[in-house]
Amino acid sequence: MSNWDVEKIRRDFPVLSQKVNGNPLVYLDNAASSQVPNIVIERGSEYLKNEHSNIHRGVHYLSQKATTAYEGAREKVKRFINARDVKECIFVRGCTEGINLVAYGYGRKFVGEGDEIIISAMEHHANIVPWQMLAEEKGCVLRVIPMNQRGELIIDEYEAMLNERTKFVSIVHISNALGTLNPVKQMIESAHKFGVPVLVDAAQSVPHSIIDVQDLDCDFLTFSGHKMFAPTGSGVLYGKQELLETMNPFMGGGDMIRTVTFEKTTYAGLPNKFEAGTPAIASNIGLGAAIDYLNSIDRQSAIAYEHELVEYATEKLSAIEGVKLIGTAREKASVVSFTIENVHPHDIGTILDQQGIAVRAGHHCAQPVMQFFQVPATARASFAFYNTREEVDVLADAVQKVIEVFA
Ligand code: PMP
Repeated sequence: MSNWDVEKIRRDFPVLSQKVNGNPLVYLDNAASSQVPNIVIERGSEYLKNEHSNIHRGVHYLSQKATTAYEGAREKVKRFINARDVKECIFVRGCTEGINLVAYGYGRKFVGEGDEIIISAMEHHANIVPWQMLAEEKGCVLRVIPMNQRGELIIDEYEAMLNERTKFVSIVHISNALGTLNPVKQMIESAHKFGVPVLVDAAQSVPHSIIDVQDLDCDFLTFSGHKMFAPTGSGVLYGKQELLETMNPFMGGGDMIRTVTFEKTTYAGLPNKFEAGTPAIASNIGLGAAIDYLNSIDRQSAIAYEHELVEYATEKLSAIEGVKLIGTAREKASVVSFTIENVHPHDIGTILDQQGIAVRAGHHCAQPVMQFFQVPATARASFAFYNTREEVDVLADAVQKVIEVFA
């Protein structure tokens, strides 16, 4: 194992030291929501105690403090993902809102009847349903990049799918159901040869890789704070300025306008044009603090450590008779999905919970992935850099016990 000081890191996350059902908590549901470090909790508390106010509109002291903190968080986001300008970083409630915003603001303006939108076979519902809604409304066609039995996209088929009717590509970076890491940089390059913009669903990749939007050359990228050690309600949509400027606003209301009369409204510039109403001020300030936290640790080592944990968990679980891994891509991160012969994944989840182990059991909002692998659901262990090798051992022992109970 790499010399990652996991015990020191764990002390930053107070929730991890509790007992659940008489056992030490083993938190392996990080793909759903990760835990929050002290620095984020303290920043949120400081804001609520001393700075809470509405932003942008007030001339008074507290409003200015809150505005400075909120816009400071945006600046941190910009540096974190290497955007060119803060105008390109829109605060949203999370990845779902980010994708809907683009399907609405870009899709409804630029996609028409007979046009094609490409997504993949391993998308989260958040990256399927908004495009389906658009397709129903506009008469455009949704095309789906297939995957192989390992849970890897068939890139040749994707390349063959791109044509002059393709108007948009929206693709997941790391699959939450399978853990597959997709070659998005290469996929973006291929789409750009046809002048097609690409959105990257980075919900799972922002916490587990280093994202540089300029290097990827993605046109849009979106992620949720609650999967990257920040509170729920925070999140970001990155978009290239020239695209965001051509788009329609998503929601209308306060803060997104320049002037309003009953005859006509003119819109504010970026990023406000896409931030109607009072945003999640405290949560997004917390997102800024989570970025500070990530900047304070050695991320390359954290990523390498997580990788080792996933490999170790894969090795241990696949050695248990009756366990089947779902998603065995060569490039993977964070997630180990599995089924146990003759045991429903919900029963796995419930029995593990009795031992203090939190895993997710279900379709992981990726029903087409379950249909492809012909399973009703899977149990999913998903890791963060505060998990330990011992926790993997506890998980593997508990899975073995599940098999014995149902034998
Ligand atoms: N995409 C992926 C790959 C995800 O894992 C998730 C969350 N499970 C989402 C989108 C949706 O994120 P949120 O619910 O935070 O909007």
